[in-house]
Formats: sequence, C-alpha cells, structure tokens
Amino acid sequence: VAKRLEKFKTTIFTQMSTLALKHGAINLGQGFPNFDGPDFVKEAAIQAINDGKNQYARGHGVPELNSAIAARFLEDSGLVVDPEKEVTVTSGCTEAIAAAMLGLINPGDEVILFAPFYDSYEATLSMAGAKVKGITLRPPDFSLPLEELKAAVTSETRAILLNTPHNPTGKMFTREELETIARLCVENDVLVFSDEVYDKLAFEMDHVSIASLPGMYERTVTMNSLGKTFSLTGWKIGWAIAPPHLTWGIRQAHSYLTFATSTPMQYAAVAALRAPESYFRELKRDYSAKKEILVKGLKEVGFEVFPSSGTYFVVVDHTPFGLENDVAFCEYLIKEVGVVAIPTSVFYLNPEEGKRLVRFTFCKDEETLRSAVERMKLKL
Ligand code: GLN
Repeated sequence: VAKRLEKFKTTIFTQMSTLALKHGAINLGQGFPNFDGPDFVKEAAIQAINDGKNQYARGHGVPELNSAIAARFLEDSGLVVDPEKEVTVTSGCTEAIAAAMLGLINPGDEVILFAPFYDSYEATLSMAGAKVKGITLRPPDFSLPLEELKAAVTSETRAILLNTPHNPTGKMFTREELETIARLCVENDVLVFSDEVYDKLAFEMDHVSIASLPGMYERTVTMNSLGKTFSLTGWKIGWAIAPPHLTWGIRQAHSYLTFATSTPMQYAAVAALRAPESYFRELKRDYSAKKEILVKGLKEVGFEVFPSSGTYFVVVDHTPFGLENDVAFCEYLIKEVGVVAIPTSVFYLNPEEGKRLVRFTFCKDEETLRSAVERMKLKL
C-alpha cells in the first residue's frame, strides 16, 4: 500500500459489520437503515432504467438533478445557486469530500479537523498531502473550544472541515459557534468544507448551513447526499455546492476520480428531492421515536448517554461496565451480549481521547432497537 495510506486500517465500519454477521449480533454499529427507502424514489429509478437512461451522465450531473439540488438548497438555506456553475453531483458525499480535498488542497496545506471525525476525512486529507491539525470536541456537550480554535487558525490554515449535525456525537454546531468559525475564516482567508448529510435529522435545533452566514458563501463547499435523508445509503448519490472558482477544482478532481455518477439513480434522486415537506416531517418524527427508544434504553442499561441533537447516532460512556477501553468494550458487546456498537478511538488523531466512548445508531426498526436494549439489560 502507498505511504499515504499506510497508517489506515480496514475501516471500523467494515470491521464491525463483518463481526456482526459472524456472531449474529444486532448491528447498531454502521449507520445504515435496516428498512428500505420510499417507494416513489425506487419506482423513479426503475422507470429511469426502463426509459433507457443508462449511459454515462454528464460529468457534473444530469441537468434535472443539478436543478433539483439548487432548488432544495434554496428551500433549506435561502441561498440562490446556479445549478450549472455551482452544483456538482458525486458518488456519495464521501466522493464529494475527496473531490473537494484533491481539487482544492495542495500538498503541505494545513487543514483543521474537529475530532472525533468521520474516518474518511483523515484518510482523504492524507491522500491530498494535507497537514492535519485537530481540535477536540469534548463530552458532555462536545461544544466548540473557542480559544483553542482561535489559536489554531492562522495565516497557514487553508481550510476547516466541518460536519453538522456531527457524526459520531450527534452534536449540532450552534449558530453562535458557526458565526465564530465564519469570522475566523473571513479574517484569515480560510475555506470551509461542510459535510451536512444529516441536515434532515436535526431534532433539537434548526440546522444552519455555514454557507448562509455573511462572507461565507464564497469560501464554502457545502456537501450533502441522498443516503441518510431517503434511507438509501447504498445508492451513493451525493453533491457539492460551491461558488464557481471552487467548483472548478472539485469538478476537475471528480472528472478524473469517477467521471460521472450512476445515471438512472440521478434521475431517481430528482424525484426524491422534489418530495413534499410532509416526507421530511415524517422522517424526523419516525426517527425521534427511534431515538427515544434507544436513548431511554441505554440509560436504563446503565450507560452515561451524552445528548445528541441531530444525526441517527448517540455516544455513551461505557466505563461503568469496567472494560479497559472502547475497542475491548465493543468486542465484549459483540461476543458476549450480541450487540454491535462502534468504538470511537479511530475517530481521533490521538486514539486515547476516544477510549471511554462508543457510538450506537438508531437507524433500525423499533423492534430491533428494543431487542438490542433487552440483550444489554440481560447480559451487561
Ligand atoms: N457513515 C456511516 C457511519 O458513520 C458509515 C459509512 C461507511 O461505512 N463508510 O456509520
């Protein structure tokens, strides 16, 4: 393996899902729903295939999808963007992140990352040759350590990688926190890469796109996808919205990474993004019920459960159960209890910082969540 990927292991999600299958454990680890996406979107995909929309799509997206993404973004953030010049369709948000890094970051550029972070960020930054600086968000509330951030952002900083609602903690950056980040970025001429894939799973406060704050649109890449909002994580349809000068870099990288994204799925994505507001309300209502079952259950089991405002994840402190660290706890949980969670130490530059914490997901049907809680009550 190339040096740039030497230090990275098999992703924790692959490791844990493989163990889940091997031990017949209930998988509250990797974040994928165990229920299907909506029929109207699946039917639109079948229709597109039958209509012969099966050859390469235009590199930056089929025109209807670029327009649907711009319309959705206007609805959600109030920002008017040009679907032709400022929207790029990618193969999932993970590709959008990679295309943004590879298209806009030079080797040696410094990028700030909030730990814990989704694992692909660090690996992708390594592929881009970036110098990574971490700022740790700490329990119980994972709030932004303002002074640390102020000290970290300098004229050397090229970009900040933001994720709100935040995986794995469920933290949502408050408007005040986003304003602070924005001010530092404007003052120091820093870009923001903002991963907002959980924006429709915002339970405790409204989601704010940092691109909508003063002075920020011109320096922000906003990234999102279909997977979480439509329970279709296997479709891998994502996008990046950015002003033309940044979009150019993203599209150059995207052109040579994947060239284009699955054509029929892009047509289906158009149908998805035109869903009535009631769809998004129901999604949130369903997930609120699931969240309540899991959070209440985990507390009854005896975990310290940290508040999660958004995403379909919740982080707990496992130390009441006496295992030495997060990895040991997750192994015990799989083998002895039959439930899978994700150890968080892999989401930190310094793994020590994550050793008390594990992440559970509630993107599973209510029956599954209840069974997982029952198992833990019996055997932990
Ligand atoms: N985003 C999903 C999660 O955090 C997993 C994606 C993946 O498996 N790479 O669980």
